[in-house]
Amino acid sequence: MSSRVELNLFLEVDILTAGTIAEVINSVLESLLYQRNQIPFVYKTYRYYVNKWNDDDEQQEDMEQLDNVKNFQVQRQRNLAKSTKDSISAMREAINDTFRRTAVKSLRFLFGGTPFTPKESYTIHIPIENVLTNHDWEQHRIEAQKLNETLISLLTNESLYSIFSQNLSPTNVYLEFELFDNPMTSTRSSQDSKSNMYPKEFSAIPSSCKDIQINLIHKRKPESENMIFKCCKDLHIFEDNISPYLKNSTSPSGFYGGKKSNFFNQDVGWWESEVIVRGFKEQSIKGQNIWK
Ligand SMILES: [Zn+2]
Repeated sequence: MSSRVELNLFLEVDILTAGTIAEVINSVLESLLYQRNQIPFVYKTYRYYVNKWNDDDEQQEDMEQLDNVKNFQVQRQRNLAKSTKDSISAMREAINDTFRRTAVKSLRFLFGGTPFTPKESYTIHIPIENVLTNHDWEQHRIEAQKLNETLISLLTNESLYSIFSQNLSPTNVYLEFELFDNPMTSTRSSQDSKSNMYPKEFSAIPSSCKDIQINLIHKRKPESENMIFKCCKDLHIFEDNISPYLKNSTSPSGFYGGKKSNFFNQDVGWWESEVIVRGFKEQSIKGQNIWK
């Protein structure tokens, strides 16, 4: 009983860059983690609390006043919460890093005990032919309001109602990319790359998995014709104010828009990121609130 859902997700921005797509994908990840019950608060709130523990000196004193058993339980919960938060940061970085160094055809987030037994799979298809490389992504960031509109349209999408109305217990979240290139041998592979990927020979998902297919679609801003003077090229800061994304994407073997025909002739393959997010749900400890 395979349940497959396909939907379109619009991104309204004047110029679509790989950096903007990575930013949107990261926001989708954060939204899904909260909506699918893998973190107890929206990501920014969650991150705020966990980071607060790190630099909160008073916390230490409070903890010393607790009896040892409770202290141990609270500390253990906080360590788990922190490890989940750190893995989300690492996954965000893996997404940025991959979009920076190679062309991504699609990617997916798998929610489940193992990457071969997911309960829910969210595949996001990248509009690769609309991605421009000769623009600085910082100059063409998606507006916060437009990003929120995109996220809301995903979270309130009618075809996801029945999936989102069911609670998902904390589980693992895996990240996989469909790439045109071997990311580990690619000349673009930077030494400072922080995360590794493994080739995935068997990429089909089980029929019991909820299979959500999301087509990202670039929607140009209606007024973008008039915005030509805001473009990084026209400001002549293109060469001076070059972003890391751009630096990597202007090499002779450029990807995305430029040489797409070459890519379309290549075999694509699935790669699994080594980064895994383990969902966090606090266990109640009598009389204690781990978030304080
Ligand atoms: Zn530009």
